[in-house]
Amino acid sequence: MSKIAHKSHTCQAVVVSCMDFRLQEMISRWAVKNIKGGFDRVAVAGGVKNLPFVLGQIELSVKLHQISSVYLINHEDCGAYGSKGTFEKHREDLLVAKNALARKFPKLKITLLYLKLNGEFVGIYTKQT
Ligand SMILES: [Zn+2]
Repeated sequence: MSKIAHKSHTCQAVVVSCMDFRLQEMISRWAVKNIKGGFDRVAVAGGVKNLPFVLGQIELSVKLHQISSVYLINHEDCGAYGSKGTFEKHREDLLVAKNALARKFPKLKITLLYLKLNGEFVGIYTKQT
């Protein structure tokens, strides 16, 4: 492989979301609009619910494509969470995932989002103490 091909084999970000078919078009449209420089996609039931798996996928994205940003997207009415999937629960899980990720990869820029079924992306922010 040439050096040029190797150099171009990188991207800006990885986008982690639920596999739910209802979200895919919204997420694709949002990501293409908001992420310049390409992105990997991880789609797994529950989004960050299976954190060890998600961390492993992000680690691969870092190693293979030298990403600098991570977008973690959980969503409203997620079947993997069932009746436990309140906004507060998703918020909590996203923040736990962010902390775990920040410990492992301190340089990554991490964005947390909660996607409503109406297509609205709600930003989740860490409370500063
Ligand atoms: Zn889901």
